Amino acid sequence: MRAQVLVVGAGPAGAELARQLAAAGVAVLLVDQLADLSQAAFSSAAMPFASLERFGLPAQVVASRWRGWQLLGPAEQRRCWRASAPIGVVLDFGALRQWLADQCRRFGGQVQLGLRAFDCQPQGAGWRTLLRDRQGAVREVISDWVVDASGQGRALIGPFTPPPRAGEAGRDRVQGVGVEWLLQVPLGCWQSWSDQLSFCLGSDWVAQGYGWIFPMAPGQLKVGVCRLRPDRQLPPLGRVLEQLLARLFSPEERQASAVLDRHGGLISSSIRRRDCHGQGRLLAIGDAVSTANLLGGEGIRHALSSSRVLAPLLLEAIQSGEPLPLRQYEQQLSQRLGWRWSLSGRLARRTWLGLTGPKADQRLSRLLVGLEPRSAEDLAALLFDYRFERYGLKSLPYLVGMR
Ligand SMILES: Cc1cc2nc3c(=O)[nH]c(=O)nc-3n(C[C@H](O)[C@H](O)[C@H](O)COP(=O)(O)OP(=O)(O)OC[C@H]3O[C@@H](n4cnc5c(N)ncnc54)[C@H](O)[C@@H]3O)c2cc1C
Repeated sequence: MRAQVLVVGAGPAGAELARQLAAAGVAVLLVDQLADLSQAAFSSAAMPFASLERFGLPAQVVASRWRGWQLLGPAEQRRCWRASAPIGVVLDFGALRQWLADQCRRFGGQVQLGLRAFDCQPQGAGWRTLLRDRQGAVREVISDWVVDASGQGRALIGPFTPPPRAGEAGRDRVQGVGVEWLLQVPLGCWQSWSDQLSFCLGSDWVAQGYGWIFPMAPGQLKVGVCRLRPDRQLPPLGRVLEQLLARLFSPEERQASAVLDRHGGLISSSIRRRDCHGQGRLLAIGDAVSTANLLGGEGIRHALSSSRVLAPLLLEAIQSGEPLPLRQYEQQLSQRLGWRWSLSGRLARRTWLGLTGPKADQRLSRLLVGLEPRSAEDLAALLFDYRFERYGLKSLPYLVGMR
């Protein structure tokens, strides 16, 4: 097979880049190891309205809307914030991938599923990529450019580099593991969780992490737990999720519910983002260049942003025949993510990894008490725009890990 640009991975980053390139008339081939993009919808995908508009996403990728927050914990504490109008959406991650890939096809791009890329070597001015199909047969793609959008696994660009500097061994990379179930619940039960994002916080809910309950289509909820690594011999996440369900739902509600899907995955990011972003005509985007932010386990918006940054640079390089200015790509992407992004990465490490017992729970409680007078919109600004300064200058030393 031949293509001008081969994009490996049809997650939000790869599929968005492929649709941008196809819309500009580039002969793009988008491949994914999944045979069906609606499957393995591991992400919960909460996002503010502004992002939905910025990326031009249609109603068909939205599972529900929300206007409030509910924070459960530490222990039995419960806090709620509510806005008068919806603030954001929960995306249907499978539908999002499907829609982006369909758009790519609509603009004349090719999409091939069930192909896993396992090798990529320079050939002439371009690349020769090898992919294995579901029957084990090997296919070859010759392309001028290859974009690794395979997520935190970095299938082609290789392991995260460079290695940590002396004295910061392992500290720059923050890694979390999440498990999530899609539940069909009675409508009355769904209604009590609808219209809001709920989080379970505190070491007795999820040590070194947090849990969540997000409303999906009527009658469906996504319930998940995520924990930062390294964990210190904590119980398996599947068991933590079951305990969480037992605390959140009555025996009758659990009996009347069904698990429609179980999924999970890794989320990984380097706080300083010094990962290799490309070598010549092999480039990387999305989680493959650490765009995910582990404070709220959030990466879809940032993955889409990385494609929006790379697309015009790549188009210009294709048209001019000049090399792509890699340094410019890295700098523009860092600017787009902003300084708050890396501050919140540090905060993620500090907040979640340190959440191991009563002392950390007390500290978390104090922070939550400080949030009480804030509005639901303020909380959205804190969690999605990382507007920590609104939370008060007094908290900044805590946020940067000095307390
Ligand atoms: C449990 C969990 C919950 C999350 N919840 C949220 C949330 O609520 N909100 C949010 O914004 N983010 C969330 N995230 C993070 C978010 O899903 C990621 O940051 C985002 O999907 C990254 O997009 P991406 O396109 O870079 O990579 P991915 O979405 O990981 O896409 C990579 C694609 O590449 C394919 N692929 C991998 N290797 C190969 C190969 N060798 N050959 C071919 N194809 C390959 C994969 O099948 C996949 O489709 C969550 C993550 C997890 C694990």
